[in-house]
Amino acid sequence: MSDLDKSIQYLKGVGPKRYRLLTRLGIYTPRDLLNYFPRTYQDRSQIEKISDLKESNTSMVKGNVSRMRNSNTRGWKSIFEISLTDNTGILLVKWFNQPYMKDKLQVDDLVLLYGRVSFYKQKLQMINPDYEVITENIDVAESLRIVPVYTLTDDVSQTFFRKLVAMVLEESLCSIEEFFPDDIIRKHKLLPLMHAIKNIHFPDTFDILNEAKKRLKYQEFFMFESAMALQKRRIKDADGYQFHIGENIKHQIFRLFPFVLTKSQEKVIRDVHEDMCRLKPMNRLLQGDVGSGKTVVAVYALIAAIANGIQAAFMAPTELLAEQHYRTLNCFLVKAKVRVLLLKGGLKTKERQENLERIKNGEVDLVIGTHTLIQTDVEFKRLGLIVIDEQHKFGVMQRTRLRRKGYCPKPDVLVMTATPIPRSLSLTVFGDLDVSIIDELPPGRIPVKTYWVKANKQTDVYGFIRKEIEKGSQAFVVYPLVEESEKLDLKAATEEAKILQDKVFPGVRVGLLHGKLKSDVKEFIMSDFMNHKYDILVSTIIIEVGIDIPNATIMLIEHADRFGLAQLHQLRGRIGRSSHKSYCLLFGAPKSEGSRQRLKAMVDTNDGFKIAEEDLRIRGPGEFFGTRQHGIPEFKIADIINDHTILQLARDDAFKLINERWNLKVSKNRILLKMIMENFKDKFDLINTG
Ligand code: ADP
Ligand code: MG
Repeated sequence: MSDLDKSIQYLKGVGPKRYRLLTRLGIYTPRDLLNYFPRTYQDRSQIEKISDLKESNTSMVKGNVSRMRNSNTRGWKSIFEISLTDNTGILLVKWFNQPYMKDKLQVDDLVLLYGRVSFYKQKLQMINPDYEVITENIDVAESLRIVPVYTLTDDVSQTFFRKLVAMVLEESLCSIEEFFPDDIIRKHKLLPLMHAIKNIHFPDTFDILNEAKKRLKYQEFFMFESAMALQKRRIKDADGYQFHIGENIKHQIFRLFPFVLTKSQEKVIRDVHEDMCRLKPMNRLLQGDVGSGKTVVAVYALIAAIANGIQAAFMAPTELLAEQHYRTLNCFLVKAKVRVLLLKGGLKTKERQENLERIKNGEVDLVIGTHTLIQTDVEFKRLGLIVIDEQHKFGVMQRTRLRRKGYCPKPDVLVMTATPIPRSLSLTVFGDLDVSIIDELPPGRIPVKTYWVKANKQTDVYGFIRKEIEKGSQAFVVYPLVEESEKLDLKAATEEAKILQDKVFPGVRVGLLHGKLKSDVKEFIMSDFMNHKYDILVSTIIIEVGIDIPNATIMLIEHADRFGLAQLHQLRGRIGRSSHKSYCLLFGAPKSEGSRQRLKAMVDTNDGFKIAEEDLRIRGPGEFFGTRQHGIPEFKIADIINDHTILQLARDDAFKLINERWNLKVSKNRILLKMIMENFKDKFDLINTG
């Protein structure tokens, strides 16, 4: 074992207490420490003269302590004050609430101070600067250089942390092993790993810092894409089910659809069909905007698999959607002797056990459910196909977990998504998948008209809705449900439903749907709305994805400014699903520029890809990709949008390495694999990768 992998508690200066603090930052070994990169840097390489200091600048000065004073204000706040002189002037320096400072400095000490310059009673001063007493050995970690600043907790000081990093660099830098092939390093002129690590912490110049960043960004992407490539290769190498889908079955399935498929749907079904008929497992992503008709592709695959006597699973992100899929499929399958099971959440133990037994014994052909499907107690007899709807609501990890249930042979996997990430990126971040795209809507669709309704026009809008309802349309009215105040929002939705019923729309049938209802109640309400027993359905966000009620043509969103752009677009996708004209009405008074831009984007475009790009622009990559929803890891130093070019290069190189030159006899490849396993073992299906 390299020194880098020993426990950090044996390092000089790290006692049990500091060890605990460091582990809270995720640092257990010197290697972890070196991989804990600075958040930012301070330029302390230039010493300024006191006479040159300017208010508001952050500066470094050097001088002698000429006067010291310790005082207390109003009993509780301590102030330690010194005057610092160089041969150009005097600077007043104060430390608040750091009484121990008086023991650190003495009159006549030569010190370096780094801090923000302010102006007080016509004099220049610095408050709470970083300091260093200059002795004969200037401490390299702290002074006269570009100094790293880390994200730390209160109990771990920058000074301590810097010194620890400097010490580890000194002792162990040369045991850091390079794992990139020489030609990659040469081709992109990358810094060797050892130099990159040294310079990301203690760069000599800003130029070399940029070189270090480039290498480490490239490395993060390279590892991620290598993991993708390995997973893709592993799936392709494994044997899966080779389905036989004859013309006969094909026509029987097509006959189930009450409409002619679009060209895009046909094309995608062809892709899926070919994948399934191959021995190698399918691993395909289907992208298509809301309402483009992805479900029929799923139905095709599911029925084709079941016709082969193999079990299939269909996973959806919400119970409502799972139930809807259950209904749709049951509709299609009434005549066929297919045994469909809806695995609900929140079942009693006994009931759940019975369901699980049936799945395990192969008494069920098709299982539909939410993420309950990936719980460890769910075992299949011969799972051969997995379809995941609205994949962007799950993480890669969940996809992997469901896939693992297929044991051997490997099941085919089809994941479907509306517009989780901009097209320009989907190839690189969903790089382990083959991609099919539905890029047209079924014929006869009229684009949804979206209006942002000002407060004084709301009454008019209600009048308009009433007219549409009288003509036979149905409407959704959606209320935001913000987690912190779930109860309040629920109350608001409930009360609003009552007001709408009693005051605004007397005589109109208003239903109410929210997450707190029991699932069979939800189910009843949904199917009543489907069967037009309600004209208006007041709902919380739970109808966001997938719900398909073609007769509903109005979507009124209250407090639209509180929803995210992707959510708004998904909600709007609930209407415009027939050849009737549909209207999306946004109520809301945005409080921030961001939410104003979101509403504007909704009015300006119906295109899901444009919406995704706009969303990314408004929120920035950090927030857009920050959540685990996308299943894309948070990169430490690389930025998926701004470093897109590096991502592309790293992807090409990684896929070439894995597919053309991968050889575990080469020690560099072994190190790379080890690092990938450490970083991504939860996220990818990499076991036994050879
Ligand atoms: P999404 O891609 O959002 O999941 P769905 O599969 O729910 O879309 O389809 C949206 C609606 O369009 C459904 O009511 C579906 O029955 C209908 N549909 C799908 N394909 C076609 C088609 N080719 N022609 C007409 N209607 C279609
Ligand atoms: Mg759908």
